[in-house]
Amino acid sequence: MPPFGVMFHHFHDEPDKAAAARHPRGQGSISATTLSEMLDDLGDRVIPAREYAERAAAGQLTDTDVCLTFDDNLRCQFDVAEPVLKERGLTGSWFVATGTLRGEAPKLEIYRRFRDTRFANIDDFYEAYFRLLAATPLAERVCEALRTFDPNGYLAEFAFYSEADRRFRYVRDEVLGPRDYERVMDELIAAHGVSITDLARDLWMGETELRRLHKEGHVIGLHSHSHPTRLANLTPSQQRAEYADNLALLMDVTRERPTTMSHPCNSYTDATLAILRDLGVTVGFRANMAPGGGSTLELPREDHVNLLSAAAVN
Ligand SMILES: [Zn+2]
Repeated sequence: MPPFGVMFHHFHDEPDKAAAARHPRGQGSISATTLSEMLDDLGDRVIPAREYAERAAAGQLTDTDVCLTFDDNLRCQFDVAEPVLKERGLTGSWFVATGTLRGEAPKLEIYRRFRDTRFANIDDFYEAYFRLLAATPLAERVCEALRTFDPNGYLAEFAFYSEADRRFRYVRDEVLGPRDYERVMDELIAAHGVSITDLARDLWMGETELRRLHKEGHVIGLHSHSHPTRLANLTPSQQRAEYADNLALLMDVTRERPTTMSHPCNSYTDATLAILRDLGVTVGFRANMAPGGGSTLELPREDHVNLLSAAAVN
């Protein structure tokens, strides 16, 4: 097994505290106990984040080296995972999309929290979304597109998606596009009497948490400013602005120039890599285990979900 980063996203409070959970359980989220078990399994393969970055930049990683990475600046990572790492004397790399520090929150996380907390399961959410969609002027376009839609041929590389997952993603990404998709989502949220402000509460870390992580020896790295889902589709100058703003804001917070990053939604082009090099970034992570182009700006990562043994999930 080559060296890799473990890619963490969402954490939830322990089940026994579920009634008052600040960080409720969601799709793919894990608890502190599960994280501990995973760290037990990885044992002394996990090396300090700074050392991993230095070895990677110098091309000196060994096959057993593993590092821990946390994307998206999530408050649940700080509240649930940071104490576990601290107790074990471990450090990780935290890749921050800085828009959240300026009140420009990516809707992706808000919508995720809405789905996770307001519906018994994902199918109930899909049903509510399509019911509302059917009552809008967009209905005809969606109906027309779904008439010839073949769920088995769409996103076939992701075996774990259900037919309903595929239909929803197809309508969201190929038929509606971000603007219309968000318009319907925002209507659905309003229809549930929930405000975006309520949903955004406790979702992201602030400057205080980032400063503390930095002081404790964790690595703070880039993850773009606004977290576009398809950064590769932006022009090179838009891409540069994403990473230059990201870098300037993080330097403001930590007083250290970031030299590491992870690619949001694994989306990048050769131009992105050239921009990152130009900004002084030496180490970058992909969002899967594929080798990419093999440069030190495309290091592989394994999603924590793939490291879970069935018994460990709680
Ligand atoms: Zn991300």
